[in-house]
Amino acid sequence: MRKGQIAKNGFRYIILNNPVPAGRFEAHLQMHVGSIEEGDDEQGVAHIVEHVTFLGSDKRSVLFGTGSESNAYTDFHHTVYHINCPLVSQGTTALPPNTKLLPLALDALREIAFEAKMLNSRIEKERLAVLSELSMMTNMEYRMTTQEICELHSETILPKRFPIGDEATIRKVHPDKVRAFYHRFYHSDRADLFIVGDVDLDETEALIKKVFEPVPPSPTYLARQAMKVGALAGLKDYNETFSKFPEFDPRNDWRIRPQVKHRFSDENRVNFSLDPAIFRHEMIPSLQLVMCAKLPVQPIQTKKDLREFVLSRLVVACLGWSLTSKVRPNPPLSGIEFDHSDSMSESCAVTTLKLYSRPHEWQDMLSVAMKDVRRAYRRGFSQAELDCMITSILADSRQAAQQAGNIPSSEIVGSLLEAELLGHTFMDFNYYHSLLEEIVETITLEDVNEHAKKLLEYIAEYGEDDAPLPAAILACVPSGPNGEKDVVEISKEDIQRELQHKPDDDEYEDEVENLEHLVSPEALAHMHTLNPPAWVDVEPGVQRKEDPKTGIVMRRLSNGIRVNIKKTLNSPNTVSIAAVSPGGLARETRTNPAAVKLGVQAIMQGGSFGNYSREMVDLFSMRKLMNINFGVTLESITWDLLAPTETVDDLMQFLMLTYSDLRWNEKAFNSAKDLFQSNWDAVTKSLEMASADMLVRAVANDDARFWGPPPEVIESLDLNTVKDELEKQLCTDGLEINIVGDFDMEEIEESVLKHLGTIPKRDKPEPIYQQDIIDIKPDPTRQHQRIELPDDQKRAIGYLTGVAPNRWGYSTENPKCKENGYWSYDGKVAKDEQTQERRKHPMFATACIELIEKMVSTELYSLLRDSLSLVYHTKFEVGVNERLPTNDWLIVINSEHQNVDRAVNEASKCLRNIRFTPHMLSSAKRSVQHFHETESANDAYWLGYLRGMQDDTIPDKMEGASAEYYDVLNQVSLDDIKEVWKTFLTSEKDVYTCVGVSG
Ligand SMILES: [Zn+2]
Repeated sequence: MRKGQIAKNGFRYIILNNPVPAGRFEAHLQMHVGSIEEGDDEQGVAHIVEHVTFLGSDKRSVLFGTGSESNAYTDFHHTVYHINCPLVSQGTTALPPNTKLLPLALDALREIAFEAKMLNSRIEKERLAVLSELSMMTNMEYRMTTQEICELHSETILPKRFPIGDEATIRKVHPDKVRAFYHRFYHSDRADLFIVGDVDLDETEALIKKVFEPVPPSPTYLARQAMKVGALAGLKDYNETFSKFPEFDPRNDWRIRPQVKHRFSDENRVNFSLDPAIFRHEMIPSLQLVMCAKLPVQPIQTKKDLREFVLSRLVVACLGWSLTSKVRPNPPLSGIEFDHSDSMSESCAVTTLKLYSRPHEWQDMLSVAMKDVRRAYRRGFSQAELDCMITSILADSRQAAQQAGNIPSSEIVGSLLEAELLGHTFMDFNYYHSLLEEIVETITLEDVNEHAKKLLEYIAEYGEDDAPLPAAILACVPSGPNGEKDVVEISKEDIQRELQHKPDDDEYEDEVENLEHLVSPEALAHMHTLNPPAWVDVEPGVQRKEDPKTGIVMRRLSNGIRVNIKKTLNSPNTVSIAAVSPGGLARETRTNPAAVKLGVQAIMQGGSFGNYSREMVDLFSMRKLMNINFGVTLESITWDLLAPTETVDDLMQFLMLTYSDLRWNEKAFNSAKDLFQSNWDAVTKSLEMASADMLVRAVANDDARFWGPPPEVIESLDLNTVKDELEKQLCTDGLEINIVGDFDMEEIEESVLKHLGTIPKRDKPEPIYQQDIIDIKPDPTRQHQRIELPDDQKRAIGYLTGVAPNRWGYSTENPKCKENGYWSYDGKVAKDEQTQERRKHPMFATACIELIEKMVSTELYSLLRDSLSLVYHTKFEVGVNERLPTNDWLIVINSEHQNVDRAVNEASKCLRNIRFTPHMLSSAKRSVQHFHETESANDAYWLGYLRGMQDDTIPDKMEGASAEYYDVLNQVSLDDIKEVWKTFLTSEKDVYTCVGVSG
């Protein structure tokens, strides 16, 4: 790593060589300019400047089409510009092949930060874009977060300087004011440049100097230099010295920013309790109660600092686990979070306890949580809990150390920036791990419990003499619709009373037992005698099929389970598994819609197996660092597992028990029902969700498997129905186990056989998908809908959707597409053989769809955002269906209230009139290929690749032709695209829209 500063103008830089991914680099320019620099009449200007400089940069646009990505953001204290780019260009319309791109990226950053033109036309454009962004951002979640910040930082200027700014100011601020702000603050001594990537340190340093040395120094910098920063004794001297520099304004020196002075919790041990604040709004979906303490950021520079940090992490982990395990089976609590972390943007550390509940049950919720927090505060954690958390953080850091050489620059640049800002020493993961191993040796249960006392005192001792003062207590409470009397009775006094209510119950639950294995060797041996495991043929005469190109191994067990395995070196010592059962929502019985959704949720909340309690399973998986998720889509039900490689046997035992001995819990089932009830409230109160739901209803013609589900549908379901519906899909026949990661192939295969091979065979019911699923037709009477929600904030959202072929080119609307084994819109064979050949390839449709997504997105963005300034952002996306012979496309329009209808109309017109050009196609090909190349460094990408390779419901994928993907992609012609595009839409009647407005 190299750190330096340009003496002439104070420009700082850090360069770090990181070879992953090869041939690319990250350049982050951080300006110490944020919304706190704004005056009262400039609220939002820092953010507008970010937009104007970034989007107005011609030099940045030179990089378009090279496979580079760039972005920017503004927070309270900083504005960051970010470019991620290959080292050399492959050739674009603007650049010849092999042009070095680092100099160009640095030129672009120099233009953005110090030489921006700030044209009136650009300012007007971005004013509109920012207003659309504001409309998009200010949903209820954002408003609750800002309320929290207002309470937490009430003694500072932060509540009056939200980076998004003030709507009226944004509307009217004069362009001269925007330019003045830029010239006042965009100086070289306010800049930190971070370059991380496959770069040479000397060469890069020389280049940085060449590009940034000519930037003139600021008066602040000259003044600082003159008085030799080190001698700075007090503000008086400072001002006196600076008085010699008439141009200098000390308010412009970000190092002495006077505005943000936090009042920290432990400095405020006073004899009074903070008044809880209550934020009521009818659009709040469920009750939320948050309690925060505010502490200074503790820089991590010594071993002692690190030890303190580790203690905090252990307390957070122990309490977090304990609270979560209380919540899950406990209906009044729908969620609970405990956290202690640094905030870069607010420049302090915050400890937070956050609870969510149904409005009328807030007292029950609070007492469950407080009991647990007080237990931790008074009695501390148990040795078993602590051991588990230590094992888990060590395993985590060991894994990070093993992956140290594989971490992409994009991740490193983020942590480097954070370390610099918070004053932490930036550490290599191997070094960090060795320190951590040393430190945990010295940590005792008493140490952790002592530390817990410190972190939890502000909650546990609330209202007591001499207790630290919470920085904020805030309840966000839904109020009655249409100005009716409040539905929830809650006052500041009520909250205070509940917080101070300390029942003397010392009945704590028994400690949870630590499990050694999920399946004992004896039990496993017994299973073997009942169901002897065996491999069977994948295809006639072949028991083990290995693809020479990709190294993918395919196998099949005698109980019908299909196994796809790919060894990668993406994440050392990690294994990812996706156990996929084809089926999903589309396979639900029509009379029991939403049963599978509810079942998956009930299992997530309280499912277990054998004689184990859920807490035992949770503690086990936490200790083993097993990350487990259970989810359902339209087409499948999936267990996603991620863990260190040494736990492969544990993962297999987890799956083995899940598929042979799954246990349901009535309480968790009811709690899942409650959750759906709250979700429904959230849907009806959110502009985005309510409009999307309305659109889905029109397109799915009210089929309740796909929208909602509304409360009456959930209410009608009982545990047995749900259990039958879900378990019917969890059969061994057709189940596909996809495994990707860093492991020994032989060991993996053996573990699969030994464990999954013993699951009793269970046949799948026929047919996989009911015939009537494909009979769903959109309702033409609801082609264009509009919804208005009451709100005091003017907001808008627009959606456009329509039918598309699935990812393999099958379509109910155009059944002839693939009728004869080749792709053709109208079922006619293409005239020349070459075209026929190309369109016959199984990957042809996939390639065309990905190219279409890219081209249409670019076209929409340049029309709606660049030319018409109607939206903040927009994108064209095609659904992921690959089994059902139907799919959809979707456009989301984030626009302002008065522009949304026009934006939706223009988008619809754009789709109908789009003219694909050779230039668009070649640029899209580069983007799509770059996307695949980048993504293939992730195991998640390979899991997607494996999913369905042995699935009878995706015959094209079974042909395993994906290794030829880039060839197919590059051969796609403009005529191919035009032909495929016809299956998306041909006329206005194919486009369904829904506009939502509020305020
Ligand atoms: Zn923005």
